[in-house]
Amino acid sequence: MKNYDVIIIGGGAIGSSIAYSLSKRKKRVAIIEKQMIGSGASSAAAGLLGVQAEWDAEDPLFHLAQQSRRLFPKLQEEIRTLSGIDIGYEQKGILRIAHTEQELARIHDIMNWQSACGEVCEAMTMAQVQQIEPAVSSKLYGGVFCRDDGHVLAKDLTKGYAASAAALGCDIYEHTEVTQIIERQGEVCGVQTTAGMLETKQIILATGASNQPLQQHFEIEAIPVKGEVVCLHSYEPILQVPLFRERFYIAPKRGGHYVIGATMKRGDVTKHVEAASVQHLLNQAFELVPALQQATFKTSWAGLRPDCSLERPLMAQHATTKGLWCAVGHYRNGILLSAITGEYMANQLEEVTNTCNYV
Ligand SMILES: Cc1cc2nc3c(=O)[nH]c(=O)nc-3n(C[C@H](O)[C@H](O)[C@H](O)COP(=O)(O)OP(=O)(O)OC[C@H]3O[C@@H](n4cnc5c(N)ncnc54)[C@H](O)[C@@H]3O)c2cc1C
Repeated sequence: MKNYDVIIIGGGAIGSSIAYSLSKRKKRVAIIEKQMIGSGASSAAAGLLGVQAEWDAEDPLFHLAQQSRRLFPKLQEEIRTLSGIDIGYEQKGILRIAHTEQELARIHDIMNWQSACGEVCEAMTMAQVQQIEPAVSSKLYGGVFCRDDGHVLAKDLTKGYAASAAALGCDIYEHTEVTQIIERQGEVCGVQTTAGMLETKQIILATGASNQPLQQHFEIEAIPVKGEVVCLHSYEPILQVPLFRERFYIAPKRGGHYVIGATMKRGDVTKHVEAASVQHLLNQAFELVPALQQATFKTSWAGLRPDCSLERPLMAQHATTKGLWCAVGHYRNGILLSAITGEYMANQLEEVTNTCNYV
C-alpha cells in the first residue's frame, strides 16, 4: 500500500498551494481530488489579489492577506521555472469607484485606516480616474486607487501550484474521492478512496465548499456562496486595471477578456447561471463602463465560494485526532490567501502544534 508523509484532500488553490509548500520541504505528498485539479471554486474566481479592495475594516485576516499578496512576484517566477505555467500575475493596482457622495466618503475612510497599515492608496477625482481609465463613466463620483493590489489567472495559478508540486515529487490522484478517513487510537493512519487505500500520519482537508468529510470530523459547516460571472471580449482595449465597486468588479484579463462578477447567493449549490444574473451584472458593468456595450459576449460560469460557520478560515489541527488538519473557509479571498496558506500550513505541520493562531 502506498504511504505518504501528508495526504491532502482537495485539489483547489488551497490544497494545491499546501502541496507545493510541503513538496518544497521534501515531504512525500499526495493530492486526492474527486474531479480534476482546480475544478471547484478555484477555476471560477476572478483572481483579484484585492487586499485594499476587499477589506473594509481591519482584522487579523487583512494582515495575513497583505503577507500573502507580497509572495506573488516570487511565486510567479518559481511556478514558471518548475512547471512552465504563467499564472498571469499583474500588479497595476485596482480602482475602487464610488457611485454616490456617501460611497466616496466611505471609501476615503477605508483608505485612511489602510494607509495607516502601510498600504499605498490614493484618493482620486473623477477627472483623475479618467486619466487612468478614460472609459469609466463621467457620471460617477471619483474613487480610490489601490496601488498595491493586483490579479492573477486563478485557474492557471491552481494548476501551477499542482504542477510545481508534481515536479517536486507530489503524486496527484484526479477523479478519486476520499470516502473515509481512517483513525486508530486517536491518530489518523490513512484514507479510503474510490481507487483504494493510502497510508499516512498527516491528512489535510482542503475540501472547499463540500461538507464531506469536514462536518463529520470538525464541528464546523462549510457554507457555499454561489457566484456567477460573465466574460466579455473586445479586441479594442477598454480597461487596463480592475474596477471595483461594493463587491462588484470588472477585471481586464489578457487577450482582451473582461471578467464581470459576481453574484452572491448564500446556500445555493447549483452551478448554472441565471439569465437575470447575467442581466444584472451587465447592467452594472455598462453603468460603470458604457463602452463595454460594444464588446462581444464570450461566456458565463458559476462557482461556490467556501464560507464556513466560523466566518473566517479554519487552518488548524483537530483538537483530539492527531494528524488530522483542515484548511477551509477562505470564502471570497482564497486565491489571494492561497500563497500564505500553503506556507502557514507547512510551518504548522513541521512544528506540529495544535493552534490556529495565524496572526
Ligand atoms: C465567482 C467567484 C469569484 C471569486 N473571485 C475571487 C477573487 O477574485 N479573488 C480571490 O482571492 N478569491 C476569489 N474567489 C474565492 C476563491 O475562488 C475561493 O476562496 C478558493 O478558490 C477556495 O479554494 P479551495 O481550494 O478552498 O476550494 P475549491 O477550489 O473549491 O477546491 C476544493 C476541492 O476539493 C475537492 N473535494 C471536496 N471533497 C472531496 C473529497 N471527499 N475527495 C476528493 N476531493 C474532494 C473538490 O472537488 C474541489 O476541487 C471567487 C470565488 C467565486 C466562486
